[in-house]
Amino acid sequence: MALAEIQDAVAKAETKAGRAPGSVRLIAVSKVQPLERVEAVLEQGHRLFGENRVQEAQAKWPDFTSRYDGVELHLIGPLQSNKARTAMELFDAIHTLDRPKLATTLARLAQEMGKCPELMIQVNTGEEPQKAGILPADADGFIAEARALDLPVTGLMCIPPVEEEPALHFALLAKIAERNGLRELSMGMSSDFETAIALGATYVRVGSAIFGERSAV
Ligand SMILES: *Cc1c(COP(=O)(O)O)cnc(C)c1O
Repeated sequence: MALAEIQDAVAKAETKAGRAPGSVRLIAVSKVQPLERVEAVLEQGHRLFGENRVQEAQAKWPDFTSRYDGVELHLIGPLQSNKARTAMELFDAIHTLDRPKLATTLARLAQEMGKCPELMIQVNTGEEPQKAGILPADADGFIAEARALDLPVTGLMCIPPVEEEPALHFALLAKIAERNGLRELSMGMSSDFETAIALGATYVRVGSAIFGERSAV
């Protein structure tokens, strides 16, 4: 298990960037991992986890949360409107608010349920047609729209294009967050979390570096 190593690398990257210890939160991305690997990380005391599918999380987590106190679960994958209610019940944060229709649905459900998870807006910094997220040029407008709906938007999230230098995308995301007064930056995965921390990440989403390779995606 490489959890301790990754925690150590996160702490070193914080120091190197002149950031306060604990200013970056490590999300252990447990999607498609065998349950015993997830359990091992829980046993080591880690409590913050990320899943990318509502159904998978729903099947896997109620048992763990009944046995381990203080688990915090974040949705880091795309959310269909018809799964929004389940997601709002299951997750403490949703990193993938990526379109106006979903914002409207979440706002309606939040009214109805009297609560809403912390929300982050996914920005398609690479402007990739196949990737979810608000285009950088539309981000300011969409953030304003989400705020007008009273949604608890705390930050932004991005997944840089695979073949590009991630630093440029992290810097762009940080700039959009700063000019909109948003404090959270969900950016950086196994291969680039140290770069993301240097550029201001407050959440890093690390899967394979903690759990080992995934057999399927
Ligand atoms: C799977 C996934 C991760 C973790 O990826 P690794 O490369 O295994 O660290 C991070 N973010 C999102 C959105 C993911 O789907």
